[in-house]
Amino acid sequence: MKIIDSHMHLGECRIFGLNITEEQLVEYFDKYKITAAIVQPFPGAPDPREVHDRIYRLAKKLENRVYGMASINPHLGRDVVGRELERVLGDLGFVAIKLHTAGHAVSPTNPAASIVFEYAAKYKVPVMVHTGPGPFSDPMSVAPRAEEYTDVKIVLGHAGFEVYAAGALWLAKKYDNVYLEISWTPVYWLSAMINEVPGKVLFGTDLVENTPVELAKIESLNLKDEIKELILYKNAKEVFGLPI
Ligand SMILES: [Zn+2]
Repeated sequence: MKIIDSHMHLGECRIFGLNITEEQLVEYFDKYKITAAIVQPFPGAPDPREVHDRIYRLAKKLENRVYGMASINPHLGRDVVGRELERVLGDLGFVAIKLHTAGHAVSPTNPAASIVFEYAAKYKVPVMVHTGPGPFSDPMSVAPRAEEYTDVKIVLGHAGFEVYAAGALWLAKKYDNVYLEISWTPVYWLSAMINEVPGKVLFGTDLVENTPVELAKIESLNLKDEIKELILYKNAKEVFGLPI
């Protein structure tokens, strides 16, 4: 069965003290039989533009295994952010944009975040919003944007991360354009989400070493094959418009 990991990073993160290299990603694809991953810079990347270039180069090298998700602090302003989003979505073929609420200290309702939704609408790509721990990360703040940008698919990263899981699920049920990416979600919430909105749940891991854990959680639920295929592969393929 094909597996798409909707939430993977490359590069250094000075906020959370992390680093993932190209070599680690290549190893992870083979070791865990990941068909493809949506790869984004960490919010604490010293230079997200340089990481976007690294993601692009890796995508070229590992054809159809890596797809780019742009992530740049919206507080850098419209000129800088607009130019970079235009470059990665227009020229480098990235398939999504990340809004890192906690890492970039930006609520989805902050006017600075508008540019992310504007470019997502323009390039018809989804926005992944970090939800869960950290400031500005209550998924309820996504509701006004889900109503304002009904054509933009919004993926709630970590599906509320347990603490806001109830709100995340409520939003996914209420809004056609809201989806759930399930890294770090406990199995009892996974089960509820998959039961209630099976067409909206996307597999994700966030970190290389978390990959076997997330796969084990899915296995533990004993899902029917067709449901498992939705979660691991088909939902992400559709949401991100992937050719695989
Ligand atoms: Zn992440």
